Amino acid sequence: NAKNSPSEKIIVFENGMHELAMRNLSLQNDMRRGLEAHEFFIVYQPIFFLSTGELYGFEALLRWSHPQRGIVSPGEFIPAAEESGFIYELGNFALTKACNDFAKLLKTSPKDNEITLSVNISTKQLAKDNLIDIIEYAIGKSGLPPGLLILEITESSIMEYPDKSAKIIDAIKSKGIGIAVDDFGTGYSSMSVLQKLKLDKLKIDMSFVNRLTESSEDCEIVRAIITLSNSLHLQTVAEGIETSEQLQILRSLGCELGQGYLCSKPLDVKDLPLLITQNACPSLL
Ligand code: C2E
Ligand code: MG
Ligand code: MG
Ligand code: MG
Repeated sequence: NAKNSPSEKIIVFENGMHELAMRNLSLQNDMRRGLEAHEFFIVYQPIFFLSTGELYGFEALLRWSHPQRGIVSPGEFIPAAEESGFIYELGNFALTKACNDFAKLLKTSPKDNEITLSVNISTKQLAKDNLIDIIEYAIGKSGLPPGLLILEITESSIMEYPDKSAKIIDAIKSKGIGIAVDDFGTGYSSMSVLQKLKLDKLKIDMSFVNRLTESSEDCEIVRAIITLSNSLHLQTVAEGIETSEQLQILRSLGCELGQGYLCSKPLDVKDLPLLITQNACPSLL
């Protein structure tokens, strides 16, 4: 029976692969075109102190304003960019653009020297040897004080390359830049690795925050993450806070910082000065 012959299976498989490869290739070309056409930009999601409602800083999030597709979210293009290697250019763009935007913002609003900028770094960027040069260049060129910059690295990318990560994190920390472990709780952390790294923050993944009010198990996981974070002397950031019930639980568990639609969606750079002047999230007061 020809249908079950190994050779036919291979052909079917190859066709599927081919389609995916073609789609990624056209997306890659489109991204390259889009970057040159200045279609990529950064939005800024505010991060607040949960106890006081005071503004802590902003997380820079990449967006693609596509001529046909409208605003495209990073979930749709970061994986393809990682796959093709385009993430180096794109990540470099995001870092330099965010540093430049922010340095400019600080110059026009003098009392805001304490406000931080968090930038996401992908697995591939973390693993590449020139990351530290790229960071130094972005900081040097923009004039952003390094103490205001925080790099977000996911738990899973750290654990994918624990030794390499430790070295890069050391180098980043020696510049005075902070490190946050992103999407914490979704990967598989080795406690001995975590303990050895020079970290500043753990960000509790949104999926746990979403289920806080529904499941006592998730509540216990969040409590455990906060306890772990405290014992490692790190700050805890909750992401994706959408309801006041979630906020109330996070406060009672002693979570220091948070972000989410309850307080604010990611903002356009032109809207940052107003929030910086207000310096607080009304729904946290
Ligand atoms: P992340 O770092 O965990 O970012 C948080 C994501 O949650 C963002 O999605 C944000 O818009 C979304 N979010 C925040 N609050 C809420 C909420 O209350 N409800 C809901 N439903 N969502 C909320 P976004 O912007 O789509 O980014 C997704 C991921 O893409 C980020 O996850 C980050 O890992 C990656 N990413 C974004 N920008 C960059 C970048 O410049 N470079 C790299 N390498 N990765 C990036
Ligand atoms: Mg992040
Ligand atoms: Mg996150
Ligand atoms: Mg996340």
